Formats: sequence, C-alpha cells, structure tokens
Amino acid sequence: MTVLGDKLTSLLGKKTATALDEALGIVTVADLLRHYPRRYAERGELTNIAGLEIGEHATVMARIEKVNKRRMRNKPGWILEMTITDGQRRLECAFFGNAHQRERELQLGKTGLFAGKVTAFRNKLQLANPEYQMLDENNESAMDDFVGAIIPVYPAASGVPSWSIARCVRQVLDTLEREEDPMPQALRKRYGFLELFDALHAIHRPQDQRALDAARERLKWDEAMAIQLIFAQRRFSTVSRPAPACPPKPGGLLEAFDQRLPFELTSGQREVGDHIAADLEREHPMNRLLQGEVGSGKTVVALRAMLQVVDSGRQAAMLAPTEVLAAQHARSLREMLGELGQAGELGAAEQATKITLLTGSMPAKERKQALLDAASGAAGIVVGTHALIQDTVSFADLGFVVVDEQHRFGVEQRDALRTRGANDTSPHVLVMTATPIPRTVAMTVYGDLETSALRVMPVGRSPISTTVVPVAEKPAWLDRVWQRVREEVAKGHQAYVVCPRIGDEPPSDKSDKRPPLAVLDVAAELEAGPLAGLRIGILHGRLAADEKDAVMRAFAAGKLDVLVATTVIEVGVNVPNATAMVIMDADRFGVSQLHQLRGRVGRGSVAGLCLLVTEALDGTFTRERLNAVESTTDGFELSRLDLELRREGDILGAAQSGKRSSLKLLSLLRDEETIAEARLRAQEIVAEDPALTDHPGLADLVAAVVDGERAEYLEKS
Ligand code: ADP
Ligand code: MG
Repeated sequence: MTVLGDKLTSLLGKKTATALDEALGIVTVADLLRHYPRRYAERGELTNIAGLEIGEHATVMARIEKVNKRRMRNKPGWILEMTITDGQRRLECAFFGNAHQRERELQLGKTGLFAGKVTAFRNKLQLANPEYQMLDENNESAMDDFVGAIIPVYPAASGVPSWSIARCVRQVLDTLEREEDPMPQALRKRYGFLELFDALHAIHRPQDQRALDAARERLKWDEAMAIQLIFAQRRFSTVSRPAPACPPKPGGLLEAFDQRLPFELTSGQREVGDHIAADLEREHPMNRLLQGEVGSGKTVVALRAMLQVVDSGRQAAMLAPTEVLAAQHARSLREMLGELGQAGELGAAEQATKITLLTGSMPAKERKQALLDAASGAAGIVVGTHALIQDTVSFADLGFVVVDEQHRFGVEQRDALRTRGANDTSPHVLVMTATPIPRTVAMTVYGDLETSALRVMPVGRSPISTTVVPVAEKPAWLDRVWQRVREEVAKGHQAYVVCPRIGDEPPSDKSDKRPPLAVLDVAAELEAGPLAGLRIGILHGRLAADEKDAVMRAFAAGKLDVLVATTVIEVGVNVPNATAMVIMDADRFGVSQLHQLRGRVGRGSVAGLCLLVTEALDGTFTRERLNAVESTTDGFELSRLDLELRREGDILGAAQSGKRSSLKLLSLLRDEETIAEARLRAQEIVAEDPALTDHPGLADLVAAVVDGERAEYLEKS
C-alpha cells in the first residue's frame, strides 16, 4: 500500500520518477497528488484554440483535419504534416521521424490530446513535434486513464505530457492507503468537507462536476489553513513577547493635544484611535496595519498614539521610507504639536516633549546631538528613516514604532524591532499604508498583522478628476495638457509633472523598447517649449538631501510653479496649493502607485486634476489598468479592480509561478470567505496548541502545502 510520504521511484520506476522530478519537481506521492489538474476537458469538447498563448506549453484536445506525408527537401527521410482543429481555428503540426508509424496513429477525423509549445509562424499557430494521445474507443489504455467524461489536463512539461501524469496519478491512487486525515474531524464535520483521501481521488478522477467541486472545496481549505496556521503561529509568538505597557495619562500631553486640535476627529479616526490606545495599554506588543488613503488623516492618529506613549515616560519613533519624507514628517509633527513639542526651547508648554529628526545625511554635529537625544530620552519622538532601527541608534526607552508606508517594510524589518525596547521588550508597532490592500491580500500576505482602516476622509477634501491622455491615438491632447497646466498656474496654483526615470543614468538595456521618459529631459523640454516662462523645479532621488529639501521648501512656499519629479513625491508630500498632476508614461507605474501619486493634488480647497499621459493603445491590458485608475478614486475599490486585472501569481510572487507552488486552488480573488474562516479556525487552534503538537496532521499540512521556499517568501513579503 502507498502512503503520501512515499517516494515515487519505487512505485513508478526510476525513469518516470526522474522525469517527473526534473520537469516538475515532483518527488513524493504527496507532491504528485497535490499536482492538481489545471483544467478539465469534457470528453468530445474540443479546446478553444483561440485561447492559447504563444510560448506556452499547451495541451489541447483537437480533431485531426488534414494529414500529409512527404519527403524532406534536403535530407533523406519523411516529414508528416498535420492540421488539427477545434472546429473553428487551426494549429499546424509537423513531425520529423517515425512518419510511417505516426501516419497509422494519426488518422483523419480522429480526436486526441496534443501537447507542445505554441509558436507562431507566418501568422499561423503551430505546435511543432507535439506529443499526443489519441482518444478513441479502440485505445483502451487511454480510456482507462480517465473515468467518466471529465478529462483532467495537468500542468505539463515537454517529455511529461498531461496524459502521462494522469497515468502516474492513476497508478498511485490505485494503491493509496486511507491514512488518518490531517484535518481534525470536528472541522471537517463543521464545514462538511470530504476526507482528504476522497478529495484527492475526486480532484484527479472526477465522476462528475459535483464531486469535483466538493474536492476543490476541501483541498482549497487545506491551502488556506496551512497559510493561516503559519500566520497564527507568528502572531502568537509576537504577542507572547513582553512589551512596555503605556496606559493613557490623565492630564497628559495627549489630552492637551486633543484640546488644541483645530478640527474634530472623524469617526474612523476616533474608532481606530481607541483600538490603538487599548493595544498600547497592554503588556504585549501591538502589531497593527493602518490603511487609509492619502489625506485620510493617518498622521494624526499616529501622533496621538505616540503622545500616549510619551505620556507614559517612553519614546516613540516614526520611520519614513526616505529622508525627504522623514524631514517632512518631523516638520509637520512639530507644526501640529506647537508649543507641546518644543521641550528645551523658549515658550514651550510645561509638559512639552521634543521631536528629533535623525538621518544619515545630517551634518555630523547635528547628528551627534540627535543620537544623544535618542539615547538620553530627551527626545520623546524620534523621526528618521528605516536606518533608525538598525545598529547604532540607541534609545533610552523605545516603546512604540510607527512605520509610514509599509511597502518597503517587511516582516524581517519588523523582526529587527523585536528587542529594541528597554529590557529586551518589543515595542508596539503601527504600520501605515496609503495603498489599500484587498482584504484577502491583507489576510494572506500581511496575515501576521491586525488591520484597521480609515475609510472616511476628513471633511473639506476636494475631489480629484483623472483623465487618461492617449497620446498615440490623440497626439494633440498633449498640447492641451500643458495648456491646462498653464491655466492652473495662471490661477495661482502649482503643478507636478511625474516621470518614471531620472535621466542621468547610463543607457542601460539594448531592448528596442523606448526608455521611459526622464525628469531631466522632460524638464528641459518643458522649459524650452510648452511651459517656457514658468518657474520649474526638479526633484529626484539622486539630489543631495539638502538640495531635495531646498526644492521641496521652495515648492511648498510657492516659489516654483511646476515640479518635475520622480516618484519621490509619491508619499507624504503635502502642498495644498498644488492642484494638477501630469504623469508621463503613466503605464510604467503600477495602479496603486498612480493612485498614491494623484493623492498629492486636491489637498486644498480646490479640486485636483490628474492627467495620465500614455502611449498605450486602447484595448490593451495596460490601458485597462489606466482606465481603472480613471474610473474611481476610491482606493479600496481600485485595489479590488487591480486584483482582478493582475494575474494572481504576481501578487503572491515568484513562488506561485514556480514549478512547485503551494497555492494551487486558493484564489485571493474568489475565496475571501474561505480565507477568513480559515483565519478564525487557525487562530483558535494555535491559541490552544501553539506548536501544533496535538495536531500532527496540521503540522504536516503546514510543511507539505507551504514548503520551505514558500514560507520564506511569505516572511519576506
Ligand atoms: P495621511 O497621513 O493619511 O495622508 P494626514 O494625517 O497627513 O493624512 O492628514 C491630511 C490633512 O488632513 C492634514 O493637513 C491634517 O491636518 C488634516 N486632517 C486630519 N484629520 C482631520 C480631520 N479629522 N478633520 C479635518 N482635517 C483633518
Ligand atoms: Mg501621511
């Protein structure tokens, strides 16, 4: 009898086992049985040839329409040419060698499975030298490989065609032993799941659609559960660490700050604030992700939390992705706090704290003072880049770390924080992002964090209208773009022009694709032409920190009309007078990045305008993404559209498209409920049995479905 852990060598023979291993990384019975069919063909229903992609290794069910044997031109021997069809379109095939035998097998009008790499030649689709398996009543062994009318089509590779995999699977299933199900019976009952043994049989050799659906449900659950168990374990291990408890202090800084707030908090800010306040009070670290659109008021929420921590005599650190942003955060925190943030200065409030900026490029003397402030505890709030949590910077008593813009801040970095509090405690962590993440992605990729969201924008936010400018189809629109910028400037407003590239880098690849537009070139062209006479500034990542700072200040002070920049302005930059943004080569940016970028305009009382300039043609996938950005300014809706447009593999990273991926059935798009349920159940199980010692089956599941590579990837994302 065969069990899941067995190696395939002894079962299938060395030759077959080696082929499976080399082509698909399949080594054990479990590997093979978790290599699920990619799709299913109905017997007699031909594969739609129009759906094939050039370059893919495809398996198609088709009918032979034409066969022709002829002598090769320059060599001795025969060539067999064949045309197969789905009834509508055709694929040209050619066989070299074995022509006589093939002629006997490949008979006109017969149906079979054909596998090979799809290529295009003279506008015709080809399948060169395909492997094949004829499906006719006389071919009994082929018929036996498939029960019922549903024929599984496996992810295959050359030398290991789908039907060989089917045959191996059958052989293995025929001797498979019914082992104890890794899923606890209570769970199985609760959701009415098939047993693993039955599910594996049904997914590979389904009798009918209903059996197949039931199998999928069960096996999908295994995938969701494995991932959620890993996250639950990680949350458990984080949460069981000691953290500095920071209860709110009556009559403290936070209260004083709240009294001076020039506006009412939104209901979302209050609610999220309450959650965070409660978390900070606990003796175990908070690990929370705060999502909210640009301008939704996350900074206020973070500042209030930092003040609660300062009130309890500890320090808070705020990390930004760049030095420019760190400097800007420090400025705006100081502004918001006023005299409450001027400890050590004249006119400071009695209980005031000190906000210290600490970056790598500060002059040595200032930096030394900043380091001292952090180490002595003189600084209640330290603002810097991620370098803050690395090595040299020491804190007197770090209780709380706020990370702005999480997408460059993964689990690894969060782990580095673990012992940065006094006495080896773990500081509380709040990660903020302006890129809304669909719920399923949040639960899957950021599954170790609790999540909160600010969905209501503070009052007074102005709408942003977005328009795609398709310059390939409508070149004249570009003139209109610059005219619009001039109109905004004439009204006393300012504008951004964003480009994907700086422009001083050495010419890189030899690809014939035009390199993306560059800040330096575009600025020069605008200055000489369409925007002549306007005050144009340049901002990009390779300027020295003080230059960047000077440019930002000049723009903020209204001394520049137009800022031509890279995405350095993507996050945090806040100039309410800037009302227009032109994004050049917009198709070179991601959907969420575009959304983030346009959040820079419409921050004042005037409506914002965002123009997405692109050469992408109508009807292309690229244009669809831009259309999505045009269609909605709701970041959560947009993130959902983006998820729909992207291939799921992109979201889960390379591991997903690799040979042996672990998420095969689970879809981040369609399986929200499954993922959410699994998350709850995993949480319950881990709370009682953190190491899964009483659940060996589940422990195996984690190991089997989420292999080492995958786990590592999840940790890094
Ligand atoms: P985010 O960090 O989410 O992009 P900010 O916290 O910087 O947003 O807030 C954007 C602007 O809105 C700031 O000028 C801030 O002072 C203001 N703001 C924040 N909360 C409110 C509110 N409840 N009512 C009015 N204005 C607010
Ligand atoms: Mg912000």
